[in-house]
Amino acid sequence: MVKFLEVTHDVLFESIKSYITNQDSLDLIEKAYNYAQEHHEGQFRKNQEPYFTHLCQVAYILSQLHVGPKTIAAGLLHDVIEDCDVSKEQLTSDFDEEIATLVEAVTKIGNLKFKDEKEYQAANHRKIFIAMAKDIRVILIKLVDRLHNMRTLQYMKEEKQIKIAQETLNVYAPIAHRLGISEIKNELEDLSFFYLNRDEYYHIARLVEAKKNERDIQVNSMIYEISNILKTNHIPFRIFGRSKHLYSIYKKMTTKNKRFEEILDLLAIRIITKTELNCYEVLGFIHATYRPIPGRLKDYIAMPKMNMYQSLHTTIVGENGRIFEVQIRTEEMDQIADQGVAAHWRYKENTNYNPRNEQREIENKLSWFKDLETLTEDLDNDSPSAYMDTLTKDVFEANVYVMTPKGRVIDLPNGATPIDFAYRVHTEIGHQTTGAIVNESLVPLNTVLKTGDVVQLRTTKNSEPSADWLKFVKTNHAKNKIKNFLAKKETERRQDIIKQGEVTLSAELKKRGFEPSEYMVSGKLEGIYGQFQVSNYNDFMYAIAVKSISLITAVEKITNTKKSLFDSTTLTNIINSKEHKRKIPSKTGIMVKGVDTMKISLASCCNPIYGEEIKGYISKGQGVKVHRVDCPNIEKERKRLIDVYWDSQREARKYEANINIVSRDRNFLLTDIVTVISQYKGSLQSINSVVNNENLTVITKFAVLVDDIDHLNNIIANLKKVDGVITIDRVIK
Ligand code: MN
Repeated sequence: MVKFLEVTHDVLFESIKSYITNQDSLDLIEKAYNYAQEHHEGQFRKNQEPYFTHLCQVAYILSQLHVGPKTIAAGLLHDVIEDCDVSKEQLTSDFDEEIATLVEAVTKIGNLKFKDEKEYQAANHRKIFIAMAKDIRVILIKLVDRLHNMRTLQYMKEEKQIKIAQETLNVYAPIAHRLGISEIKNELEDLSFFYLNRDEYYHIARLVEAKKNERDIQVNSMIYEISNILKTNHIPFRIFGRSKHLYSIYKKMTTKNKRFEEILDLLAIRIITKTELNCYEVLGFIHATYRPIPGRLKDYIAMPKMNMYQSLHTTIVGENGRIFEVQIRTEEMDQIADQGVAAHWRYKENTNYNPRNEQREIENKLSWFKDLETLTEDLDNDSPSAYMDTLTKDVFEANVYVMTPKGRVIDLPNGATPIDFAYRVHTEIGHQTTGAIVNESLVPLNTVLKTGDVVQLRTTKNSEPSADWLKFVKTNHAKNKIKNFLAKKETERRQDIIKQGEVTLSAELKKRGFEPSEYMVSGKLEGIYGQFQVSNYNDFMYAIAVKSISLITAVEKITNTKKSLFDSTTLTNIINSKEHKRKIPSKTGIMVKGVDTMKISLASCCNPIYGEEIKGYISKGQGVKVHRVDCPNIEKERKRLIDVYWDSQREARKYEANINIVSRDRNFLLTDIVTVISQYKGSLQSINSVVNNENLTVITKFAVLVDDIDHLNNIIANLKKVDGVITIDRVIK
């Protein structure tokens, strides 16, 4: 392993003074330096060095990234809350709110304890992103802290080494990558690789070493040739060969299944020039001299990567058929390629350095940052693992880059469709998408997008997502949005029905002279849910609305006005309510609103039964005939119909129902039917069975007297259980 520089006070301040000269800023850092030294006095790291060396190293690496004075101070102080019992308040009064907040945020990220490794990582990952969304400087400090811990990991126990290395590879390296800080990302990856897979690490390191001389010769001769071309054409440049880091070679070998030779056969050269225009000129001269390999030219200048990376990439065939990868970029692009966000964050004295504005600017540059924020907000209440899955899938594994017509780049996972794209742009747009135009032609919504596709969406106001979309969307983000929408919609629909049930019940109560607000309360209703096979208020109202509970019966039960000789409370209630109301019970059990004296009779065609929905038909000279609402005989008589309702204080009487049963023919069928009817206390008036020999079915017709519709429904429900029964219908004559 590489031996790292010892960071003394002078080394640190020399690095800092290379870009910070303001005395107040230097004093602040000095103060933080002394404060940390004092507070960590007597603490040692595993390698017996004073703990304070860790803080100097962190501050030093931060200064190499040219961060601002407060960030360096926070870097020096980043462990005082955790390890020295200094409170945030103390730190605020000793320094300031900004520094104290940074230190506290760094402390929080490292301080979470979870029940298992997966949950730990997932939750930690999320914490990091939430912290980052607030202030990227927190992450810079945390990354640098982790980098130095990784550099000194050899002093830890092996078990701990593996755990930390794994977390670094899973969490910190991807974050560094997304922030474009490839210097740190590469080092974190190689260090993790070393601890997680030493054999492979050494194997690849040896292979690289063995080929080094040969490769250096080839690269140097190519550098010489290109230098001559550029000098002749008066283009400013720096040129050098570059080597891939070990982990990236390993990853290419395993994920792309390539032999070591195939990967290392690619020789890599980087050219740094002055302006963007120079970049294209350099490319032009190189292509004019060497044959480029088709399909390998990538213009990341015109279309920067998600992490702000910009460069021109091409692959050319050199002398002797050697293949070279060439990267061309400006100094500024190079700095961003190495340091990403940190390069952007570079502290420049006397230039209105404002962390908040910088944060905003970086968020705008990192186009994935907005997605991250939405994902983080959306999944806040979900389990950390679900968040981790979404993040890994939607953000880290994103490798399809498509564009909006305005040129905004959206990164999506493999297999993503226009619907995934739509939800990434905006939730509302996702909901309202009705069509997709990819590269100017209309495509189905389940079309798989490719890198470079320009995607335009057709939306229609008030259009809604379809459950079918769930079958093809790839991102968890879109999946969650669609599911939430559908679930919300279903809840709303149910709520509407419940309301409807309430309205119906309330109207019925009022009609009968009861005050709805007195009866429609959970306390009054709870006792009767069991009798209707529902378990709560909403289910009860829902059942009333969809008529799976008879409204009449419900009203009776709620107001306790049903006659029952076995229930003394009911009886008392009836007596009481009779005293109050003094109404004469009608023989048919039916009342007509506002009319007491009219002659009322039940229609013989449909034989309505107490509790069913009914309508009154004003017949000539025969008073009111009461039919079932669905009786075909009153269908065309709308004008002569009036509202009637069952009187809860009727005289006890029976109602006749005529039933038709179609069933398979078998022995003892009729016996079984009769048994059921009598078991459930129906009094049979007539019964008659006819066998149809053609299809071996039996039609059984019978008339039965019942107390009310619930009684009849109970009999029918039990008849349906009789073996061989196919259909059961009420007969309307
Ligand atoms: Mn630390």
